Amino acid sequence: MIRDMPDINEILKISQDLIRIKSTKDRPQDIGLCLDYAEKCLKDTSLTIKRFESNGVPSLVATKSGTKAPKIFLNGHLDVIEAHDKQFEPKIEDGKLIARGASDMKSAVAIMLVLMKELHTTHDIGLMLVGDEESGGFNGTKYLLDQGYTCQAAIIPDGGTAIQNIMHKAKGAMWVELTATGQAAHASRPWQGENAINKLLLAIDRVHNLFLNPTKHSDDHWATTCNIGNIRGGDSANVVPSHAVAVCDIRHIENDNQQSILRRIQNSLPDGVTAKQTVEVESLFVKDDDPYLIAYQEAIRSIGREPRLCLDHGASDARFFGARGIPTLISVPDSGGNHTENEWVSINALEDFAKMLKYFLNKITK
Ligand SMILES: [Zn+2]
Repeated sequence: MIRDMPDINEILKISQDLIRIKSTKDRPQDIGLCLDYAEKCLKDTSLTIKRFESNGVPSLVATKSGTKAPKIFLNGHLDVIEAHDKQFEPKIEDGKLIARGASDMKSAVAIMLVLMKELHTTHDIGLMLVGDEESGGFNGTKYLLDQGYTCQAAIIPDGGTAIQNIMHKAKGAMWVELTATGQAAHASRPWQGENAINKLLLAIDRVHNLFLNPTKHSDDHWATTCNIGNIRGGDSANVVPSHAVAVCDIRHIENDNQQSILRRIQNSLPDGVTAKQTVEVESLFVKDDDPYLIAYQEAIRSIGREPRLCLDHGASDARFFGARGIPTLISVPDSGGNHTENEWVSINALEDFAKMLKYFLNKITK
């Protein structure tokens, strides 16, 4: 018999086996055990499997003949966030698989393993499994891309809450530190000094005015925003402060970029205040007419659902692909409760997601 559906029992078994491994970030050996398990799943295939480690974080890449550039990379993470012991014992209730990692994202990894086994000889696909998405992704996805791995498009089922909700845009983020310098003096003779806090307040007001007031956004808040989240300076009320610092967190949309934002801030500052960028988080923007995005939408329609293009206000490993101009497709089997005690994924949706992904891969790489 020709098997043309991904096998839900196999997907469920792999999901549950992976969930039982307590692969939190402080247990890299358990993330390694998840990778051992994945490697065992793929042992009867002709895939070349390579293991990596960066700063103690293990990862795995499986590609045909060890190529570093399959057309499509499937990418998933096996680290999960902290949970009570009982959350590592998967429960099935009301058609849901409930456990830490059920939704984020061991069941999606199980689907990708099953599809890799089934399709690797006929489709130009590779698998990337990483262990630090929840703690930044620098030693997993970013590290692997830095080793020269690349692709035409990536699939990362790690964002949103349902198959049809495609998270096609995620804002970039940056932190900018504003530093004001003045001249100390006794508070009884302020004319002898230069008050750094006064300068900083003026700077904050100007920077704040560069960004639209959040209450004036459109309903989806798809605008570049700025939050002044930290301010410090001065030692005592009776001293004119010589130094004050404020830190802004800026989230930007696709029409903006970090160099121009920094320049705009610098140009707005009063004398005696400087701005420097301290944190950079890449963005992900997939164009509405991207052919992979269009094929992914068609795959969603093939299972009887209507795709929706959604906006993501957070960040995931997709940003590392985005930074390299690689379109990344993000949606998940219907699920909820990520990072809570009630993390769940719909078992029917696991099957539908597997069918949808298989349809997409057939369309794109067969
Ligand atoms: Zn995740």
